[in-house]
Amino acid sequence: MKTIAQIAAELQGYDPQALPAKAVLDFLQRLVTPVTESTELPLFDSLGKVLSADVISPMDVPPHDNSAMDGYAFDGRQLQANTPLQLRVVGTALAGKAWIGEAGLGDCVKIMTGAIMPVGLDTVVPQEMVTQLEPLNGETTFVLIPPGLLKPGDNRRLRGEDLAQGRPALLKGQVITPARLGLAASLGLPCLPCWRPLRVAYFSTGDEILSLGEPPREGAVYDSNRYTTFGLLKRLGCEVIDMGVVKDDPALLEAAFRSAAAQADAIISSGGVSVGEADYTKAMMKKLGDVAFWRIAMRPGRPMAVGRIAAETSDSAGTPGSQKPGAVLFGLPGNPVAVMVTFLAFVRPALLQMMGCTDSAAPLLKAHSQEPMRKKAGRTEYQRGWVSTSADGSLQVRTTGNQGSGVLSSMAEANGLIMLHHEQGNVAVGDLLDVMMFDGAI
Ligand code: AMP
Ligand code: MG
Repeated sequence: MKTIAQIAAELQGYDPQALPAKAVLDFLQRLVTPVTESTELPLFDSLGKVLSADVISPMDVPPHDNSAMDGYAFDGRQLQANTPLQLRVVGTALAGKAWIGEAGLGDCVKIMTGAIMPVGLDTVVPQEMVTQLEPLNGETTFVLIPPGLLKPGDNRRLRGEDLAQGRPALLKGQVITPARLGLAASLGLPCLPCWRPLRVAYFSTGDEILSLGEPPREGAVYDSNRYTTFGLLKRLGCEVIDMGVVKDDPALLEAAFRSAAAQADAIISSGGVSVGEADYTKAMMKKLGDVAFWRIAMRPGRPMAVGRIAAETSDSAGTPGSQKPGAVLFGLPGNPVAVMVTFLAFVRPALLQMMGCTDSAAPLLKAHSQEPMRKKAGRTEYQRGWVSTSADGSLQVRTTGNQGSGVLSSMAEANGLIMLHHEQGNVAVGDLLDVMMFDGAI
């Protein structure tokens, strides 16, 4: 496990007073380590968890060649370019009830979707393509297939085309989505190997912060950061430990940090990390841990503290103890929008890495700007945006009102974060912008 100083020494041009967003991500990637404990979870409990091992398919899916349509199965070698094909119906194959028999040239078998293909037959003509011919003697039915519509093999699903036996069906590090849950079920697997969920403790700091239920008072604001943080962590599938609002008091802060570090893999605090902040939050982080204090070249969300808080620095006899490596600390700024932006930009990828997740990159969309924007090169700016489809079908994005870092309504009205990159300058109408969509994260 590397110290803050060791990581800083590895990064070229590391300047904690003007750290580019990219350098923050590089730093965090070196700081955090994935969880190591894994458990087998029943399928219904595994949704949203991260796979701790590859899942190898124990069987072919589908297990037999079968029909993709309701229609008639026949030997496709008989198809000719210009001549209709007349076939005698010799039986019926149902899903779950195979037709046992021999169908030769000139024969076909009425077949339902999902039914096993009869031996020797490789092609299915959908019911609506054929003409039924009048029974000749009341027993045998014939169908007529028009030419030019089919090729051999059409409308047949091949054994193992979804998943082949012995091949990896799901990969270690993937998040278990509804589709992956269904896929595991289609293999007959009742349980999946999952990394244990991450435990994240969070609290808000500041004397002016009110908990819900407290009466309003002059100069005080209700705590919103704990609620946005709670929501963001829940969407990630973390186990959350809510530690409330902690007043700006050294004893209370020390107790909160120690208790959080003892229980959690990561701690998210908000407030008290600004430069010149006249409070005890930063002092306590310094005392209890190995912490870097940054000014990030970004807007909103410039100040941030990052490091580790020791679970226990000494036992009652004063000797250094504790096997626990300490919890990773994300000391976020206080402003409500800054909290959400720094979470999405930096904390989320770091937590996903800790969760053992390998497919963690948030997808970026390209959308045309509907408005000009002023942007200073040399910092990354995150604007709250609304992406929609324009009349010509391309994606467009506008900002959602007041972009102040305390204005949470701009966040509540947005469906994505517009990323104006470090080197980017002013934006003109029509420019293509990168947008990090909230879907699934927020
Ligand atoms: P700070 O980073 O502590 O200087 O806080 C910056 C601004 O964010 C101040 O206006 C705080 O009142 C506000 N703020 C800090 N924490 C919270 C919170 N938990 N909920 C809402 N606003 C907050
Ligand atoms: Mg404060």
